[in-house]
Amino acid sequence: VSDIELINVCKTYQTKKQTVEAVKDVNLSIKSGDIFGVIGFSGAGKSTLIRLLNLLESPTSGVIEVDGEDITKLKGKKLREYRQEVGMIFQHFNLLWSRTVLDNVLLPLEFSHVPKDEREEKARELIKLVGLEGRENAYPSQLSGGQKQRVGIARALTNDPQILLCDEATSALDPQTTEEVLDLLLDINKQLGLTIVLITHEMNVIRKICNKVAVMETGRVIETGDTLSVFRHP
Ligand code: ADP
Ligand code: ADP
Repeated sequence: VSDIELINVCKTYQTKKQTVEAVKDVNLSIKSGDIFGVIGFSGAGKSTLIRLLNLLESPTSGVIEVDGEDITKLKGKKLREYRQEVGMIFQHFNLLWSRTVLDNVLLPLEFSHVPKDEREEKARELIKLVGLEGRENAYPSQLSGGQKQRVGIARALTNDPQILLCDEATSALDPQTTEEVLDLLLDINKQLGLTIVLITHEMNVIRKICNKVAVMETGRVIETGDTLSVFRHP
């Protein structure tokens, strides 16, 4: 399980020139197994929200609870354990170009609890799960955009995360490939019971796979709820 509660979360960036309230008093309730979409224009605060969830940033005020524990207070071993529970995929895939598909997927396992002799088997299983069986020894440059994102997804799953964060994961892909990658995410959500939080500026992504949605505008959540009720035609 991995219920996520954001309670009065604010994030303010202080630069030399200005103060930016990137996230303002956000309250969200993300339930275990949700595919929760956050949609908004550029600058709405979506990336900041993701960085708060993976603890790349800590909130200026407010609380973020995962299964009842305030993750913003985590330190040392507990912080490392939390980070392992969170997988992440990116718009531009963030693969290592000089390494094969297999080595890219193996990478997070180098720092994990999985015994050395089980790592390759685990990586091969995940490569199969994302539909890339047979391409283990290919380099990222030899793959299509959709295949690259499949590698990104396999790599994100290596440490058996409870939560998968997706940062504009289909924004660099064409419509057909977007559909295929979204179908894969839906599959993974069902098969592994993983909670997915995704940020996007594309309505079709939300409509296709998200059961819950939050709409962000200049740092605030201006609407949230079931996708069907939030985007019901009047
Ligand atoms: P989105 O992902 O929706 O485009 P961001 O979270 O990237 O929104 O940005 C929200 C606001 O916070 C923007 O005004 C952006 O310029 C500002 N911002 C984001 N990151 C930083 C930072 N590290 N320092 C200062 N301002 C930032
Ligand atoms: P995204 O498309 O993910 O929102 P951006 O292009 O807005 O990314 O930001 C890229 C990086 O620059 C991020 O790491 C963000 O923290 C940082 N950033 C964004 N806006 C500002 C800003 N106004 N001042 C300083 N850093 C910023």
